[in-house]
Amino acid sequence: MPEEPALKVKRLQDMKISRKRVILRVDFNVPLSSDGGVRDNSRIRESLPTIKLLLKEQARVVILSHLGRPKGKSDPRLTLKPVAEELSRLLGHPVSFSEETVGSRAEKAAKALKPGEVLLMENLRFNPGEEEDSASFAGALSKLGDVFIQDAFGALHRAHASTDALPRRMPSAVGLLVQKEIEFLDRALGNPQRPFLAIIGGAKVSGKLGVLKRLVERVDSLLIGGGMAYTFLHAQGVSVGRSLVEKEMLDEAKSIIEKAFARQITCLLPADHAAVKELRPDSPVELTHGMAIPPDMIGVDIGPGTVDIFADQIKKSKTIFWNGPLGVFEMEPFAKGSLAVASAVAKQGEKAGVVTIAGGGDTLALVAKAGVAESFSHLSTGGGASLEFVEGKILPGLKALTGS
Ligand code: AMP
Repeated sequence: MPEEPALKVKRLQDMKISRKRVILRVDFNVPLSSDGGVRDNSRIRESLPTIKLLLKEQARVVILSHLGRPKGKSDPRLTLKPVAEELSRLLGHPVSFSEETVGSRAEKAAKALKPGEVLLMENLRFNPGEEEDSASFAGALSKLGDVFIQDAFGALHRAHASTDALPRRMPSAVGLLVQKEIEFLDRALGNPQRPFLAIIGGAKVSGKLGVLKRLVERVDSLLIGGGMAYTFLHAQGVSVGRSLVEKEMLDEAKSIIEKAFARQITCLLPADHAAVKELRPDSPVELTHGMAIPPDMIGVDIGPGTVDIFADQIKKSKTIFWNGPLGVFEMEPFAKGSLAVASAVAKQGEKAGVVTIAGGGDTLALVAKAGVAESFSHLSTGGGASLEFVEGKILPGLKALTGS
């Protein structure tokens, strides 16, 4: 829901790609297991429609991605080699791998590609030029192909060489995944079916302030949970014990509540909590009888009363946007509230005409854990990018594609 009119970017379908050498930027920033294998291949699976379309057109496909934070240096623990193997398995098609990302050997490998062949280049971030948005690194990358397709939705909020300088110097367009993400977020959130409900959780207010400020102007109901709820409760004069509070965000929290009040929308904070004395999974859990938390305790999850109140709001809504866990869900006993909310949103999403969107890695993990991923209308792959988009920011990686 950008403030400005939707950016005019070209789509993969608008480009002549038949038999061309196409540089495809994807987000293969996948979790790896301790033996270096791919632990979760969702991000690879999401890139398959674009890769399959390119192969149908007999393009010669040169794939670029980053993985982790190697800080501009080669790091064997963050090689994309296992990703090439996993991609090949999922595609049912050979995928070769280049240990160099740029330079004469990389160019030779890219030039040797025949129509319908796929080559994955080594991790972009092994080169410092990537995160520096270096013109010379982008120049070196541009020698790998004739056309650039941007399909790394999760990287669009960064102005790096492969998302900014590179598309500016080549004929460029967005791939199918980026199109799907943008159409969904734009249509559902820019012109939502009402009542429009947002559920925002996560650790801190500061991490989602822009999104909260924007959503409170748009939604009909706002439900706040997770660690950030304690700053809101504290700002309202409620005792929150030893729970996470960001003192420097108290005024911002107050002004969000005032805005909700002025617009006469529903803005709900947790009405009860699961609280512990020590932040450990084996700590005995106490359920509070109201909003307040005893002085020696830490709030770690929304309580059952809050789940019921949130579920009532969910049942009344036609568009639901959810980002951020409502408790310290990494510890099994404190995931109950988030899992119950995931199920309530999923159930509502099964009704005709209801749009449900979940975004952010933690939220998607919760939706998967609750076993309800299929019931959501859209699972947004890029946490940071989807939040900045919802916030109304123009994503640098999209701006670069317009040449502006
Ligand atoms: P974010 O990246 O801002 O969405 O925050 C996600 C993190 O919020 C997760 O690692 C959760 O453990 C954390 N979180 C959720 N609820 C709480 C809480 N009550 N206290 C502390 N951290 C929390």
